[in-house]
Amino acid sequence: MKNAQYLLIPGPTPVPLRVARAMDRPMINHRGPEFCKIIGDVVSGVKRIYRTREQLLIYPASGTGGLEAAIANFIAPGEKVLAISIGVFGDRFAEIATRFGAQVEKVDFPWGSGADPNIIKERIEKDKGGEIKAVLITHNETSTGVCNDIETIRKAIKEHPALFMVYSVSGLGAHELRMDDWDLDVVVSGSQKAFMIPPGLSFMAFSPKALAKHKVNPNRCFYWDVTLGLQYQESGQTPFTPPISLYYGLQEALKMLEEEGLENVLIRHRNYRDMVRTSIAAMGLELFTKDAFASNAVTSVCAPTEIGANSIRKYMLEEFNIILAGGQQNLDNVIFRLGHLGYVRELDIIAVLAALELTLVKFKYDLQLGSGLHKAQETLLKYHISKQE
Ligand SMILES: *Cc1c(COP(=O)(O)O)cnc(C)c1O
Repeated sequence: MKNAQYLLIPGPTPVPLRVARAMDRPMINHRGPEFCKIIGDVVSGVKRIYRTREQLLIYPASGTGGLEAAIANFIAPGEKVLAISIGVFGDRFAEIATRFGAQVEKVDFPWGSGADPNIIKERIEKDKGGEIKAVLITHNETSTGVCNDIETIRKAIKEHPALFMVYSVSGLGAHELRMDDWDLDVVVSGSQKAFMIPPGLSFMAFSPKALAKHKVNPNRCFYWDVTLGLQYQESGQTPFTPPISLYYGLQEALKMLEEEGLENVLIRHRNYRDMVRTSIAAMGLELFTKDAFASNAVTSVCAPTEIGANSIRKYMLEEFNIILAGGQQNLDNVIFRLGHLGYVRELDIIAVLAALELTLVKFKYDLQLGSGLHKAQETLLKYHISKQE
């Protein structure tokens, strides 16, 4: 018998049945009153997750489309931008800016750790002439499992006039992010992570300062154009045909998030992280990131070198139908990544940790069955007890 699939990768994430059912509805006129109501609903719902009252557009695109929209609308060719990178996705944001003709200065931090606010502050303080027009930064770096301390980094460079642009495709909904309180200028996210709907929607919110910048920016895009998007949004439409089914799904997923309460959603993700990390450590495996930077969305685990991360993944897939992510670039076969983001159930995590123990023992790794599982159960018990108090 083939077990039902456990999808524990950092996106796409499992889609709740409620969302799937909501999506299974007939098409409607995207310029009619029914869709107008849906747009109003989902835009304000997503804004609540962003903790913002600023403008927000929804694009029919995967997360990267939103990043491209951000660069195309808010950065002019030839402008200097500071791109802070702690992994593959930070590099991607920098690469997009380069392609659009920005003069990109990268500030790299070692993979597995977060960006150091003091180093960024020092660099920014040197820019007396205000040459740097934007700072690009990833919130949650999915390739390593690190969450940057956006609030502290933002505070450290608050005096500088550069736009502060945050790439939070896998961060929003798993980690706290307060766009307005933290004074973030642009925040990009995507649908297939904590939002619990399939891939295909990208969200971009922006401050009045960013919008003013857009207004004087030589326009180099059509599909992503913010002015056009806002014009249509005013009348409850999108400039181009939207993926209507995904909007149905988003509307339902937002309802689910609100029923649970955003605070509780974040605490639930933190509990997933703690369950996984205490358990992995008790199995004697090395965690790729330190506790201080550990992501609520995904955990990177160093595989025992004599086994290799990919053998573990392959065995878990074939034997248990559990899907884990591999390492990217230099981390291929070094780490595997366990996604615990979106519509994941706590007992799915228990099951996957149990299967991981079986897999490790099968590969002759020295482990007492249950030693990691026990820690995960203890952590889960604490979470349940604290929920009742
Ligand atoms: C999942 C993820 C992506 C995916 O990008 P797509 O364009 O949606 O394929 C991008 N960035 C981060 C940080 C992610 O976690």
